[in-house]
Amino acid sequence: MEATTSSETTIENGSCLCGSVRYQIQTSAKRQVTHCHCTICRRASGAPFVTWVTVLTSGFEWMQGEDDKEKEEALQVYCSSPRAKRFFCRTCGSPLLFQHEDCPTEVDITAGSLVECNEIQADHHIFVGTKMAGIHVDEHLPSYEHETPSDWKKQADGE
Ligand SMILES: [Zn+2]
Ligand SMILES: [Zn+2]
Repeated sequence: MEATTSSETTIENGSCLCGSVRYQIQTSAKRQVTHCHCTICRRASGAPFVTWVTVLTSGFEWMQGEDDKEKEEALQVYCSSPRAKRFFCRTCGSPLLFQHEDCPTEVDITAGSLVECNEIQADHHIFVGTKMAGIHVDEHLPSYEHETPSDWKKQADGE
């Protein structure tokens, strides 16, 4: 894929803990940042909630390995629901990416796996209905009991 957009595009790097899996995103492909408190994210990550950065698939690229076989060997995929996949490092277990079949134009990457990212500006909290007690929700941000109203629908016809 090529950076042919007229607006300035910079690259951000992501990595698992051990470095076996690496990826790059184009900053111009970033869409939204979500704190998810759902029970699946909690158990999949081991953390009280997961911060996801939604990125257009066109601006995301796995970087490890020279060929598809190496990429597959470094990554482990778990179907956390029938239409959703979670990708993590086969060696160190770092959660890296979420993809839903109903949203083929987007992937969600874990904010914590972005190597140079020291600040995150979240857009909203979701699944606060299952939020762990004691975890603070920023009252200045929209928060939703479940998904955002537009999730899984808005991407059906592109951006
Ligand atoms: Zn790893
Ligand atoms: Zn979740």
